[in-house]
Amino acid sequence: MTAIARAPRVDVLTWPVVGRFLKWRHARLAMQIPVFLLAALIIFDGLVGPQLAPKNLATVGVWLHYRGFVVLALLVAGNLFCMACPFMLPRRAGRWVREHWLRGGRPVPAVVRNKWVAIGLIVLFFFAYELFALWSTPWWTAWVALAYFAVAIAVDTVFQGAAFCKHVCPLGQFNFFGSLISPLEIKVRDSGVCAGCRTKDCITARPAPTPITLHGMTVRGANGERGCELALFQERKVGNMDCTFCLDCIHACPRDNIGIVARTPTKELWSDPWRSGIGRFSQRSDLAALVIVLTFGAFLNAFAMIRPVYALQAGLANLLQTQSRVPGLVLLFILGLVAIPAALLGPASLITHAQARGAGAGEVLRRYVWALAPMGFAMWLAHYAFHFLTGALTVVPVVQTFLSDVGLYAGAARWDLGPLTPQSWLFPIEAALLYAGAIASIVVAVQIAGNHLSEIRKQTGARRGPYAALGAAAPWIGLVLLMLVFGIWIMLQPMEMRGTMMMVSGG
Ligand code: SF4
Ligand code: SF4
Repeated sequence: MTAIARAPRVDVLTWPVVGRFLKWRHARLAMQIPVFLLAALIIFDGLVGPQLAPKNLATVGVWLHYRGFVVLALLVAGNLFCMACPFMLPRRAGRWVREHWLRGGRPVPAVVRNKWVAIGLIVLFFFAYELFALWSTPWWTAWVALAYFAVAIAVDTVFQGAAFCKHVCPLGQFNFFGSLISPLEIKVRDSGVCAGCRTKDCITARPAPTPITLHGMTVRGANGERGCELALFQERKVGNMDCTFCLDCIHACPRDNIGIVARTPTKELWSDPWRSGIGRFSQRSDLAALVIVLTFGAFLNAFAMIRPVYALQAGLANLLQTQSRVPGLVLLFILGLVAIPAALLGPASLITHAQARGAGAGEVLRRYVWALAPMGFAMWLAHYAFHFLTGALTVVPVVQTFLSDVGLYAGAARWDLGPLTPQSWLFPIEAALLYAGAIASIVVAVQIAGNHLSEIRKQTGARRGPYAALGAAAPWIGLVLLMLVFGIWIMLQPMEMRGTMMMVSGG
């Protein structure tokens, strides 16, 4: 008899305490409630607390801690923020309204069933972040969070499925992007069990309990759980793209056949299979654009906080003969997110296309651009690590001040606290992260080229020399090295200490 469920490798769900907790059907709610309360506190302090960024929970909590924890979680585990996402808690009410009063709601229109809306919002957010210096304004930070709740509820009240997560949420797209390099993945444990499964609850989730017989044994029936609202069918799901780690499929599968399993980080980028709910990476221009925006955006975002950018902006304002920051910032964004990517990616794709001979240059771009994702994520990591390590302990005096404001604390606030590590450690840590990202990107580029050329060989029978994969990957390796040098240069510049007391004292 075939085993009903077996864990072929590290599977977090088989761990004694964590595993039991995650398999509890209210686990996600139990994680969302404290994060929701934290978000409420942040919004409250942002609206009525001290409007000095390093002294307010909104700015310190969002721009120092939230961002630091998100990238750290993506690096060591997976998409834990989406798992505990506070925006999804009130959205439950919207979903209830849709299901009970709006006849199930509307399907997402085909024209927006992609990532273009989210990409537009990401660029808009990056732009607003620089223009309005969001990191320095608790009031605006609180309003951004409130707007986020409102849009999440509105979208999910009207549209079916997880429309907000899959097609709108900029944070979600960032998490999907980062989770490409995560070491954990939600995945079936035994594909043989799925092959024998007739009900496919992980995607369909039946509304009532129904006993299920498998290999002559009666296993537990589905209990009205939801299937994957993001349309990821476990049997054909590949990797972490679009997976919010919501655990719905795990609770829905009556055969206990889904785990949170360890994997080789970045491996999902190497090949280009058809992926449930996504299709092929090489056929998705919107996903390629998402990778480009989040990779080059990482460098643009870090570049915007070093001193040379002020000289550049002043030069642009001078050139355009204006006092306003807007035209210069628009130009900077066009340069950073359109012109430079086009100037680098276009030739790289054409060179690889000339060598691969079997795929169009567009397809080559959509396939190989994924090699840049680890480098892009490493840049976010190094940047956020800088802010987190220089200001993580600021949370202590900020919380003390908050408690004192609401009459719950009478001691003196520890404003002497701030950095988590000595300043001399910062650059070595940032450089190590960037080097690791570059190495991972180079490995991915070579793997993509190897798989791509072997597919072409199968289709055309054309044989290549032993170094053909290296040759096809070479332009992308060159790009990665260029990014590495630029990233190291950025990290060597004096940076704004956004969100810390050193920022106030002019550090
Ligand atoms: S419900 Fe889905 S994951 Fe579970 S056995 Fe069936 S096909 Fe596999
Ligand atoms: S239900 Fe879908 S989004 Fe949620 S954990 Fe499973 S595969 Fe991921």
